[in-house]
Amino acid sequence: MKSELTSPADSATFQVLLYYRYVRIDNPEAYMTEHRILCRELGLRGRIIIGEEGINGTVSGTNEATNAYIATMHADPRFAEMEFKIDASDDHVFPKMSIKVRDEIVRLGLDATTDIDPNRLTGKRLSPAQFYQKMQEEEVVIIDGRNDYEAELGKFKNAICPTVENFREFPDWLRENAEKLKGKKILTYCTGGIRCEKLSGLIKGEGFDEVYQLDGGIVKYGKDPEVQGRDFEGLCYVFDERVGVEVNRTETRKVISHCRYCGVEEPHYGNCKWPDCNEQIFVCPDCRAEHGLFCSSACKDGFAKREAEG
Ligand SMILES: [Zn+2]
Ligand SMILES: [Zn+2]
Repeated sequence: MKSELTSPADSATFQVLLYYRYVRIDNPEAYMTEHRILCRELGLRGRIIIGEEGINGTVSGTNEATNAYIATMHADPRFAEMEFKIDASDDHVFPKMSIKVRDEIVRLGLDATTDIDPNRLTGKRLSPAQFYQKMQEEEVVIIDGRNDYEAELGKFKNAICPTVENFREFPDWLRENAEKLKGKKILTYCTGGIRCEKLSGLIKGEGFDEVYQLDGGIVKYGKDPEVQGRDFEGLCYVFDERVGVEVNRTETRKVISHCRYCGVEEPHYGNCKWPDCNEQIFVCPDCRAEHGLFCSSACKDGFAKREAEG
């Protein structure tokens, strides 16, 4: 286990793990069955995707259970090199365990003709310190490889967030922005690094020479003792009950999300209480008291009406 990736928290008795590995898994269905037994025995909760191309997971469990899981995975030659990002936690951050088999271990919308094998074609991996250094250079374009609602909560300073629905649209986006990107050093980043494995490969495949990816993603960048999340603005969106986690522990830390009612800085997402909507929104405590946690009066009225009908 790489201790520099662990967030210190003295009293925490749980851990949240984030990990992936692009490696050939011959029989994903059989491996899923085997993996389910392991996770059940350890009492883990979370989300794991298994495919012929590898594994992608995020789980929570007690310190003992998660450490046992890491040891078991590292004993398998296929996953011996797999890096685990570890956060301390007071409890589980998932309601249940879900293990599925899919063609893509992270949904990028690529198919047999557009897919990238990151073991063959990918951008140059930069450590957090190298990534920070590279961001300071001239002629650099920083591309956020995540969805727009993730970038809304937090992103790297000066990063651009391509408005693409899925990765298949990236080549078009690159061509449309060719003027802006020509001759530039292109840096990509995502949450834990998995999406950039293919994104940076895809950009290289479009003929760009200098393409770099943030190894281990934002999560590793925030845990790095040297850069300490420097120049990441806002929180990092995560796909569990925490929604957002702190990244930047330097004086450059700031909040970039704002209350949709009054505009004050508000770092925490909430879900609109109207179940038919459930949209993730920023509402400050004062406005929550006044308007409730609703994205609009339509949602508020809908909720009130259904309450009245019992
Ligand atoms: Zn407000
Ligand atoms: Zn709503």
